[in-house]
Amino acid sequence: MKEVNSILSEYGTTIFTIMSALAVKHKAINLGQGFPDEDGPADILDEAMLATKNESNQYPPMMGIPELRQASAAHSKTFYDIDVDWETQTIVTSGATEAIAACIFGLIEPGDEVVLIEPLYDCYLPIIRRAGAIPRLVRIAPPNWELPYQELEAAFSEKTKLILFNTPTNPAAKVYTRSELEYIAGLVKKYDTYAICDEVYEHLVYDGRQHIPLMTLPDMAERCIRISSAGKTFSMTGWKVGYSIGAKKLIEAASKAHQFLTFTTPPNLQKAVAYGLKKDIAYFKDLGTDMQAKRDRMSRGLTKIGFEILDSQGTYFLAADYKPLGFDLVDVDFCKNLTIDAGVAAVPFSAFYQDGKDSGVNHFIRFCYCKRDEIIDTALDRLDKYFSSN
Ligand code: PMP
Ligand code: GLN
Repeated sequence: MKEVNSILSEYGTTIFTIMSALAVKHKAINLGQGFPDEDGPADILDEAMLATKNESNQYPPMMGIPELRQASAAHSKTFYDIDVDWETQTIVTSGATEAIAACIFGLIEPGDEVVLIEPLYDCYLPIIRRAGAIPRLVRIAPPNWELPYQELEAAFSEKTKLILFNTPTNPAAKVYTRSELEYIAGLVKKYDTYAICDEVYEHLVYDGRQHIPLMTLPDMAERCIRISSAGKTFSMTGWKVGYSIGAKKLIEAASKAHQFLTFTTPPNLQKAVAYGLKKDIAYFKDLGTDMQAKRDRMSRGLTKIGFEILDSQGTYFLAADYKPLGFDLVDVDFCKNLTIDAGVAAVPFSAFYQDGKDSGVNHFIRFCYCKRDEIIDTALDRLDKYFSSN
C-alpha cells in the first residue's frame, strides 16, 4: 500500500500524550502535560450549562459568536489599549492550536521561510513543515534565555514570510522584554514579514513583569496576529476555545483555513468564554498571583531536593536541571525513570527542539506547577524520598 504523509508520520506521538499515559500506568503524579488539576470559575461552567440548555446547539457563525468576538476585542482594549474592529479583526477557533494552524495554512506559500525560536511548543514545526514552509530556527539558551539578536537577524531574509513566537514562553517560562520585542519588531518591518504571536499565557506573568503584545509596538498592528485561549485564562484546557485579534488581512487569511479545518467552535463554550472575558480585572490579576505562589512552592521544594531551578517568569512551567543531583542520563530516560520509580511525571526539555539530541539542554526537565498545594507537596515528598535513596 502507499505510504501515508511522510512529514507527519515522522513525528510519532506527542511527548504530552506519552508522559500522561506513563503517569496513568504507574499512578504517578502528572507534572508533565500542562493542565490545572482544578477547573476554572464555577460561574463560567454555569454559563456553559445554561447556554447548552437554553440556546441553540447548532452551527454558530464561522468567525465565532458576536458576543465572544466583541468580548475578545474589549479584553485587548482593557489590558493593552489595542483598538480593533471586532467584525473584521477577530476570530474564534477551536483552541490556540487551531488558530496557529489556520494562520500558517492561510499565510504560507510552499517555499516560504518561517523564523522560529527554540525551545518551541510542539505543534509549530510539524504544521509549518506540512504547509511546505522552511523553518529557520534560532535558539535561546539557559540560564537566562536571552534573545541572540545577531543570530535572529541572520535567520531573516527576503524569503521570510513570518516569525511565529510565544511569550510568555512554553517551556522556557521566559517573558520577552520590551527591548527584545522592539528588536523583533524592527526585523519584522525591515524584512517585510508578519508575526504570529502565541500569547496563551498572557495572564500568567510574575514578579511584577508585564506581558507586552508585539502588536502594541509601532507599525506592528498591521503585521501581527495575537492568539489567546480559554484553556489557560480560565483553567479549562479541555474546552479548546481560542480567540485571536489581528490585522484584517491576517484574520481573513486565517479564516480561509479555519472554514475548512473546523469551521466553528461549540457555541455554548463560546458563550461562557465571552462571559469570562468580561470578568473584573481582579480575576485576571489573581490568576497570576495564585500561580506565582504555586511556582514558589514548587521551586523551593525542588531546590531543597537538589535540582537547579531556572527563573520561571511566567506560564505553568519550571525548568529544572538535574545534573547537580549526579545523574547523567538523557532527559527522556530521566523522565521515564522518574515517572516509574519516583511516581512523578515531568517532560524532557529536548522534546521542544527540532533535533532534541543536539539541543544542549537534555539534562533539563519541565515541571508543571498549576496544581493544588497538596498535590505539589506530595510530588515533592515523593521526589525527596527518591533522591535521598538514589
Ligand atoms: N501554545 C502554547 C505555547 C501552549 O502551551 C499551548 C498548550 N496549552 C497551546 C498553544 C495550545 O492551546 P489550546 O489548548 O488552546 O489549543
Ligand atoms: N500545552 C500543554 C503543555 O505544554 C499540552 C497540550 C497538549 O497536550 N497538546 O504541556
